[in-house]
Amino acid sequence: MPQTSDRNRRIVLASRPAGAPSPANFRLEDGALPVPAQGQLLLRTVYLSLDPYMRGRMSDAPSYTPPFPVGEVLGGGTVCRVAASQHPGFQVGDWVTGMTGWQDYALSDGAGLTPLGKLEHPSWALGVLGMPGFTAYVGLLDIGLPKPGDTVVVAGATGAVGAVVGQLAKLEGCTVVGIAGGAEKCRSAVDELGLDACVDHHGEGLRKRLAAACPKGIDIYFENVGGAVFDAVLPLLNVGARVPICGLIAHYNDTALPPGPDRLPWLLSTLLKRRIKLQGFIITDHYASRYRAFAENMGAWVKDGAVKYREDVVVGLENAPEAFIGLLSGKNFGKLVVRVGED
Ligand code: NDP
Repeated sequence: MPQTSDRNRRIVLASRPAGAPSPANFRLEDGALPVPAQGQLLLRTVYLSLDPYMRGRMSDAPSYTPPFPVGEVLGGGTVCRVAASQHPGFQVGDWVTGMTGWQDYALSDGAGLTPLGKLEHPSWALGVLGMPGFTAYVGLLDIGLPKPGDTVVVAGATGAVGAVVGQLAKLEGCTVVGIAGGAEKCRSAVDELGLDACVDHHGEGLRKRLAAACPKGIDIYFENVGGAVFDAVLPLLNVGARVPICGLIAHYNDTALPPGPDRLPWLLSTLLKRRIKLQGFIITDHYASRYRAFAENMGAWVKDGAVKYREDVVVGLENAPEAFIGLLSGKNFGKLVVRVGED
């Protein structure tokens, strides 16, 4: 697995976005290929994961992780092959996953790398068999606490996290209603993922259409989105409902609080009267206690076809900014990954 270029292309954060990111916030730079010193290895990026959390890190508002520095290569999960090794633990050609960012090649001392062994689909380590799949597993099973017969609603139902949530909820014996953007995604949620129904959040009458799809109300709402989707869900939550707050993608480009009326009293009184439990979670808190169980179970479900997986593969590092901008407005259909290099 020798390197195929003597150059390293990198995408850096050129400036912080105000509102939706634009191509001007990214810059493609071309530098010399780094050379591994003793104890280091050179990684060639094969797949780069694009994930919604990156939008938060492009801003410098206080959060649970530090912002990406302006002028530096953007961070991100990758699947790589070892192109050159001066490290006793890694051989040329090994597959690994790590956080090596938006670039063709990266130097590493091995810290934070996970060997992947021989995977049939290496990129799946960035999706159903990696962080997004794990997020779905912990959020639904540990926080949502599904019981057979519950009605589960999941937003972003065909996305990296949502598609796994919906399928796991079906395996738990729940009635599952997805919410997704557009007829094609909704059809796929039912026909391919096996959900009972799926409601398109675009267009008029979302509240009414969601109510019709959930005649027994909602016991678990897996929140990926916020905004108008949450407004449609709230009146339908049953007594004792659980709401894992995983993400709020509809708000990631917000620059200010939305204009009134102030709906906070409505939210709080609904939570109180119906004894609803809302719980936010950040998946990195759960690796030590739950990752091993996830890896074993999800590996088996994927292998036997109980959990299906769809990727949206964009080819070329140079196309990553546009693909990422599209992720924030629903252009991806399935887990978004960039094919950066040949394996
Ligand atoms: P997805 O693959 O689901 O892609 C994002 C999807 O969000 C889009 O395809 C779109 O789907 C939907 N979307 C975007 N804007 C809106 C909007 N305004 N209203 C409704 N839907 C919208 O991404 P992931 O599965 O990777 O992430 C899903 C959520 O989970 C995100 O909020 C993310 O931040 C969160 N997350 C949280 C983690 C944690 O630790 N808490 C870890 C990982 C992810 P559609 O076209 O169907 O509307």
